[in-house]
Amino acid sequence: MTRRRSSYRSLASLQRDLSACRACVEAGYPLESLPVRNVFTGQRAYMYGQAPGIVEGEERRPWRGRAGGTLRRWLQLDEEEFYATFYCASVTRCYPGRASSGRGDRTPTPREQELCAFWREWELEILRPTLIVPVGGLAIKRLLGISGLASCIGCRYERDGATVIPLPHPSGASGWLNLAANRRLTERAAGLVREALARFQG
Ligand code: SF4
Repeated sequence: MTRRRSSYRSLASLQRDLSACRACVEAGYPLESLPVRNVFTGQRAYMYGQAPGIVEGEERRPWRGRAGGTLRRWLQLDEEEFYATFYCASVTRCYPGRASSGRGDRTPTPREQELCAFWREWELEILRPTLIVPVGGLAIKRLLGISGLASCIGCRYERDGATVIPLPHPSGASGWLNLAANRRLTERAAGLVREALARFQG
């Protein structure tokens, strides 16, 4: 049974409740994994993806599949550095299953996105990250209210005291990365993230 407190003071208690969350299943949605979560080890940056894929759902860890490898390559981080740097979250946290069309994974419905926003809001309240990286169109829309990758990839925003630098989804499923101009925007955006991370360490 899903438990949500009226407030959270620590990430440990939030993660305990998050890891057992079944709010979408209780609302009638057919999820195919338990929530994927990221052990908190003091990360100061927050990565916000769309939804876990099948590999992440099985392992219950974020960015384990091929897209995660591409993301790490863009950011020039090995696995250890990546997970030590980013607390990884997503618009929804459970593998949503395949799309009924048979092509790719199902996009979480607006209701599932709303149900899961509860966890993001409390994570941001507790973590207060200095850098937020939304990855992919859906995450960018949820976090910044911006539609369309071309208008925001390569740009930097401020939100509640954090720098926000959007990246496209590294899976390439949308085809947006097929255009050379868009790959250049992605290089610029990844460079902005690397610069922001270097400032943390400086
Ligand atoms: S997607 Fe989010 S809100 Fe829905 S069951 Fe999973 S953790 Fe809970």
